[in-house]
Amino acid sequence: MDKRFRDFLIDFNMFKNKHLWSGCFRDNSNCSQKVIKAHSIQNNKILNKISENGEVLMFGAVGGNEFGITTELQEQGRKKATTFTGFCGHHDHSIFRPIEDYDYIPGNTEQEFLYTYRATAKEYHSKKSVTNMYRTLLDLLDKGSYSEISKVFEANAPSEEHIGFMGDMFSGALFGSDDAEKRLERYRQKLNSDLDNRFYDDIITNVIVLEEEYHIAVSSMIFLEESLSGIKINDLGDFNISLAPLFITVFPQNGQTFILLSDFKRNDRRYRFIKEDLLKRDTKEIKMILSNIILSYIENLVVSPIRWKATEISTRNAITKLFDETTQEVDKPLIIDHNLDLFL
Ligand SMILES: [Zn+2]
Repeated sequence: MDKRFRDFLIDFNMFKNKHLWSGCFRDNSNCSQKVIKAHSIQNNKILNKISENGEVLMFGAVGGNEFGITTELQEQGRKKATTFTGFCGHHDHSIFRPIEDYDYIPGNTEQEFLYTYRATAKEYHSKKSVTNMYRTLLDLLDKGSYSEISKVFEANAPSEEHIGFMGDMFSGALFGSDDAEKRLERYRQKLNSDLDNRFYDDIITNVIVLEEEYHIAVSSMIFLEESLSGIKINDLGDFNISLAPLFITVFPQNGQTFILLSDFKRNDRRYRFIKEDLLKRDTKEIKMILSNIILSYIENLVVSPIRWKATEISTRNAITKLFDETTQEVDKPLIIDHNLDLFL
């Protein structure tokens, strides 16, 4: 890869980290002054359990290939891992008590609501940050402040062609993320009003319990594209049809592993394959299917360094390969690797 382009991508990642949204997802008169780094996966109960010397593994960019940046599992301090500046101290502390201070009990709708709520807040933060970043980039491009976009341009200003390319790329990305931001804003209002009313029945959760403790954890909101039999659930190429989010939470607890698959009641028919098909499969198959979904849709995944080191190289390579090749892709099948097992 062109070194200039690689430097540009590295600067771009730094730029991204400088434009993170900071605010409280709850945002009401009880907010404390300071927005904190809130954990999207419980620090004391879960990250603590799966960390080694205070470190966990998460996918992160490591370097370039000809298409951009490749990713690999890397160590991250558990105090920083999976955190986001999306809650004030008061709300982060008070809202999540039922899942921070108590073990999860399948069927507890308040706890299931809170897992969904936190996954939405994380996604909201991410979309706000990305939109914010592209607006700033377009603004800098308009003003001709190229060196503020990337240090690469300090010595040589970008060519007309390069300026055109960046303009198309930034506005294209802004178009998509602007739309996503509006959608997340609607989810935020809905979930905050449900939280006010302690109304948890609009979140439908299917729970899978594995009778072994796997040391991985996931918290995320995704738009699954198709069911196991290939029926379209979300068309990511058509923003006019309303999207149906799926909230995925995975964590180990007391010798078992819990997988929570939640959706909004109004979308439950679109995800009926979960109850009618997925839940009826055997454990090995369920693990394979979930491994595919997690690795091709989710970045907010934490893996135990101890378990990872004890895993065969071929399995590790298959996991890294699927993550690296699919997270940015659309229009992908539900199962890509029929032998995959992320449950380490
Ligand atoms: Zn607050």
